This record gives sequence, structure tokens and C-alpha cells, in this order.
Amino acid sequence: MSEKGLLIVLSGPSGVGKGTVRQKMVESKLFEFQYSVSMTTRKPRPGEVDGEDYYFTTKDKFKEAIANGKMLEHAQYVDNFYGTPLTPVKKMLAEGHDVLLEIEVNGAMKVREKMPDGVFIFLTPPDLMELKDRITKRGTDAAAVIEKRMAQAKVEIMMMENYDYAVVNDKVENAVNRIKDIVSSEHVRVPRV
Ligand code: 5GP
Repeated sequence: MSEKGLLIVLSGPSGVGKGTVRQKMVESKLFEFQYSVSMTTRKPRPGEVDGEDYYFTTKDKFKEAIANGKMLEHAQYVDNFYGTPLTPVKKMLAEGHDVLLEIEVNGAMKVREKMPDGVFIFLTPPDLMELKDRITKRGTDAAAVIEKRMAQAKVEIMMMENYDYAVVNDKVENAVNRIKDIVSSEHVRVPRV
């Protein structure tokens, strides 16, 4: 078995509950993993902490990081840029930690090209109306932004077939348990040649 950690890439439409699932993954103590904090040009939402939820930055600094080869991947999502800093991911994996990336589909596919040994999990809502309800109830986005996020969500759901696993987030505990089973299995998988 490899001493390197497992790269776990979790995607899914905005509002599907990736953040809540990640939090429950931590609280459940079923997992030992480290979270890759992304960089974004989006403004922080109330309660979000710089350096924990995201590294909040400017468009100029973001572009500079890309130009300097500091990003594993990056993507534009709705009107902002998001990306995964490369060095921390490489370091955590080399130290033997499993690393969780919570990123949108285009970025995930770029990661798949560079790190095909990762496990790619798509978190899906039980249905799209419920997704809209969740985004609306979050109350942090204006109506036009909700519509854009819903349109993006539909595109993203079509991308599910590019993932290794689909996990329905009907109940957070169920989703976490399904992810735990996937991760446990991946740890004993015969390496792909
Ligand atoms: P939000 O604005 O709701 O925090 O995130 C919007 C979307 O960007 C979500 O689908 C989230 O998973 C994705 N995202 C967050 N960080 C990254 C990243 O580093 N790279 C990419 N490609 N997507 C990200």
C-alpha cells in the first residue's frame, strides 16, 4: 500500500451541501484528512474566515498566482475565479495525509488530467427544485445570482458521468457514510497501471 495520501475531489452544484458534508466529515471523526483551502476572488460571505474557508484575494493577485505556476487548477465560476494552490496539496499528500478538494467540475477535470490516481466524487441533490430551495433559503444571493447558479447547476449535473462515484445528499449523515465507504475502499484498491 502506498504511503502517499489519497486525493479526494468532491464536486457538486452550488447549494448541494458540499460545505456541510465536509464539516460533518470532520466532526464525524470517521476520517483523517486535510482540507485544501482554495483561493477565490469572491467576496466573503458572513461568517467565512480568510485562510479557513478560502484565501480571499483580488483578481490581479489571482492572475499573478496562475502566471507563476502556483495553482494546481483554476476555473471561473459565475463571476469569480476559484483555484487550488498547488504546493500545500503536494506537501500534504507527500506527508501521507488524505487531502480533500471541494471544487467545481471544470477544475476537477483538470485535476483528473494531472492526478489521475485521485478519487472523484460527485455530490448530487435529490432533485433540482430542492437545490433551488436550498440556495434561496441560504439568503445570501440576489435573485439574478440564484438563477445563474441554478443554470450552472444544471450544466454541472450533466458532468456527473465524468466522476468515479455519485453520492446523493439526501441526508448529510448518509452522504458522509457513503463517502467514508468510498474512501475506505479506495485505500485498499489495487493500484491502476
Ligand atoms: P462558492 O462561491 O459557493 O463558495 O463556490 C462556488 C463553486 O466554486 C463551488 O462549486 C465550489 O466547489 C467551487 N470552488 C471552490 N473552490 C474552488 C477551487 O479551488 N477550484 C475550483 N475549480 N472550484 C472551486
